[in-house]
Amino acid sequence: MEIMKVNKFTMLKIAFHTLGCRSNYADTIEIKFAVLERGAEIVDFNTPADVYVLNTCTITKGADKDAQRILRQLRKKQPTARIIVVGCLAECGFTQLAESSLVDAVVQKKDRWQLTDIIFGLRADTVPTFKVDLLNKPLSTLLKGPGEFVGTTQMRSRFHLRIQNGCENHCTYCIVPRTRGKFTSRSPERILEDIQFLTNLGYEEIVLTGTHIGAYGIDLGLNLFELLKKIESSKMPRIRLSSLDPNELSVDLINLLASSPILCNYLHVCFQSFSDKILKRMGRQYKLAEVAKMVFKAKSSIKNICIGSDVICGFPGESREDVNQAVKLFLDLPISYLHVFPYSERSGTSASKLDGVVPLVERKARADLWRSYSKQRRGEFLKSLCHEQLEIIVEQTREQQLFGISREYAGVRVDLAEQDLSALPAIGSRLNVMARTVNNEKEILLCDFLANQHAVFKHVKKT
Ligand code: SF4
Repeated sequence: MEIMKVNKFTMLKIAFHTLGCRSNYADTIEIKFAVLERGAEIVDFNTPADVYVLNTCTITKGADKDAQRILRQLRKKQPTARIIVVGCLAECGFTQLAESSLVDAVVQKKDRWQLTDIIFGLRADTVPTFKVDLLNKPLSTLLKGPGEFVGTTQMRSRFHLRIQNGCENHCTYCIVPRTRGKFTSRSPERILEDIQFLTNLGYEEIVLTGTHIGAYGIDLGLNLFELLKKIESSKMPRIRLSSLDPNELSVDLINLLASSPILCNYLHVCFQSFSDKILKRMGRQYKLAEVAKMVFKAKSSIKNICIGSDVICGFPGESREDVNQAVKLFLDLPISYLHVFPYSERSGTSASKLDGVVPLVERKARADLWRSYSKQRRGEFLKSLCHEQLEIIVEQTREQQLFGISREYAGVRVDLAEQDLSALPAIGSRLNVMARTVNNEKEILLCDFLANQHAVFKHVKKT
């Protein structure tokens, strides 16, 4: 791999693009911190830059193809720019990428400590080592202000804070344990420090994220509940949990969510399948009857809770009859929406060698079926929130409308009256609205603005 030498004081323009899961987004944020700290300028991925960093995903064949397509387009558009690939495809497809003319450097996790040197075009052996030990680095040394360099609206209003990395489970369809390694958790002290810092910066919602947050603390002799208790006892903005596995829902956790003023009434519980037969083939470590009890408990204990889930359709060995039974079971559960994924083979996983392959067209048909149930459930959930007062974080403002996300993870639109426009809340503000009705097509709640609540605005844009 040839690395171009440049003056180490040159202000480089660096553009980032991220594919895949929240962990990848958290990784990109950390790399951005590191390059900013070193004096680079971060620019939009669609504009000319000296260096492009593509953070890849390899969860499916489709994800690999997306990365290849982006690399091809990039090389054509920016033939002289340096293109660097990191992320899961860099772990699993290193040789192929390293030999490709589309890429200048492929940086794997084991070489991550050299990443900023490589981004800056400096040979690691000619400069003092710049060690990127970010998992336990405090954000306060890196982050300047909300939205200052993080490009998307969503990222400006909610901050995805990584609390752990890695997974040691062995789900048969998943390559992640190979790409992200062992369970590694950040210390509670560091997490609390970062949450305090982000709160002071004005973030009103922090999403606790990681590869497998239900396994938080295993390496430290702690657990997620204990971490949340520590967070909960401090004065923080609202906190949202990202995905948990169904067997990680505990009575303690549910009771904490039910009583906490800062933890959002929201859970994303990754069932992946609603068939015990398929869960076994997936290597998932629970039985539906056991985990269903906890889902019912969460629903009955936590006011207005939204419970989302994932489902993979057309996993090898899944028959039509399995689907019918799974749908029946799903419809009995209080689940508010689904993220639906047609199964996609990932080479290097044991599932890719399983018999009973379901034809692609049938996988798609099953995904369509699940999506229709998800739409129905989301509509019912949104309807259940009508006439409730909701607390939202503003994510977008457009003319006389603002869009936001409620504690229950409901998408909200507020049409502002003329008299409300004098203090249009800026992106990131936290405010209360009254849910009026559901727009089923867009799957959002239409809400009314409640006047006289300037006290809760962190940022008020005077027009
Ligand atoms: S729990 Fe299973 S699906 Fe989730 S990251 Fe670990 S191996 Fe992958």
